[in-house]
Amino acid sequence: MALGAPVDVLDGIVHETARLNRWVGRKPAEELAMRLGLPVDIGNDATLAGLGEATVGAAPGSHDVVYLKLSAAIGCGIVLAGRPYHGAAGTAGELAHMTVVPGGARCFCGNRGCLWTVIGSERILDELESTTSDSASRLRESRGLDPDERLNQVIELALVEHDLACQEQLREVGVNAGLALVNVCNLLNPSTIVVGGTLVQAGALLMEPLRDTVIRFTRHLSRRPPGQRQRSIEILEATLGDWAEVQGAAAMVLRSYNPSIVRNLIEMIDPVDSG
Ligand SMILES: [Zn+2]
Repeated sequence: MALGAPVDVLDGIVHETARLNRWVGRKPAEELAMRLGLPVDIGNDATLAGLGEATVGAAPGSHDVVYLKLSAAIGCGIVLAGRPYHGAAGTAGELAHMTVVPGGARCFCGNRGCLWTVIGSERILDELESTTSDSASRLRESRGLDPDERLNQVIELALVEHDLACQEQLREVGVNAGLALVNVCNLLNPSTIVVGGTLVQAGALLMEPLRDTVIRFTRHLSRRPPGQRQRSIEILEATLGDWAEVQGAAAMVLRSYNPSIVRNLIEMIDPVDSG
């Protein structure tokens, strides 16, 4: 079970979170297990999406992977030495709340200057709506829609209608997400970064500045003696889409039984056939 909230993987309790606040303090895996009569494991959705991408998605076989989801919600999943890293209380990977602007704008977590306040969907849409561009009035009209649908609208305006304000906004998100990932690289030294979520559909517009930023500021991490092949960080687009969490959850369960059969069994979950 992949839940969009911090979950303590040892006792299954959902931690304080501004989203899913009615789930806080509950043990959803235990409740579901009672209703189904089957054992249920639980993990954070971004952590499990990262495990999915590192098992059968963009980076199969990579042992040290950081997955960043850039959607209306920002998530980060960490796979270290081939295993999902949950952290002491199940809150590892809260990249959205990394402080990047001391004293900056208020975030929904209660702190100021979190990454969310710089690249979150609300900031992107507020910035675009405040301009005098054609896109601004179009975006104001879509205020009632789901935030991910509105991000898709931004991408469409940028790619199809070549709206300069939207293009610039997506490039800026790429640079700022890249800078956050530089900090993660300095801490964890992953071999692979996988970027997924709604915004990755902007393709090169987002990914090029993101990739350039990470490569530019992490050269010191891959420097090797002359004549030796450099091992630079691979930065890939996610391939599993909305199925990443499902396949990661399957990987988590299956690896606890027999790691050698995990990949074959998960590949049997065919997203196309399953609709
Ligand atoms: Zn925050």
